[in-house]
Amino acid sequence: MTGLTLSQKTVVKRLEADMLSALQKTRDKIATGKASAALTRWFGANSTALANSVKGKVARMRSVLLKRTIKCLDGEKSRPAGTNAEALGYDTGLFDGGISESDRVARMLDDDDSIHIDPNFKSLPRTASGAASGWTGQDQLETLFHELSHIVLGTDDEKLDDNATTAYGGANARRLAVQSAARPQNNAENWGFFIEECGT
Ligand SMILES: [Zn+2]
Repeated sequence: MTGLTLSQKTVVKRLEADMLSALQKTRDKIATGKASAALTRWFGANSTALANSVKGKVARMRSVLLKRTIKCLDGEKSRPAGTNAEALGYDTGLFDGGISESDRVARMLDDDDSIHIDPNFKSLPRTASGAASGWTGQDQLETLFHELSHIVLGTDDEKLDDNATTAYGGANARRLAVQSAARPQNNAENWGFFIEECGT
């Protein structure tokens, strides 16, 4: 954490601890076959192949958080008032299959990739509440998983079938999981909510 105000630091520090435990819980739930409903809700399917792929990516997100610091920076002064956060990283993430091992190591060591905490972050609820099937908006914990998935997995912010609406928020992420098989797996928001549901 660099350049955050004291209150931002306190919030992010607490969320970091929650993130590690949520990622562990999520991995364990998938491994023991208890994540089927959540896989279907956020990724549109629950095949063994999909479960294994998601489990591997969740484990990578956790190992990155354990092994290195993801800098959280203050984006409040420079970013629009309505934005929650922004990730700066490699478009293809840290584990892109197409890069060489030395490039991968260099990406892991590059601490320029970072999460900017934007003006609207403090207005979000800390976590979602109620049943996951009814989650509509965004929250702080989910937002940090969303940004972490951009950095580690190289996810994007995908659009719904109307090709205009970015699938932000719980309702749109669930809609995307019905509309497409591939896009939810590349949509940061779907990772954010999947991990929040399984990990809390
Ligand atoms: Zn995003």
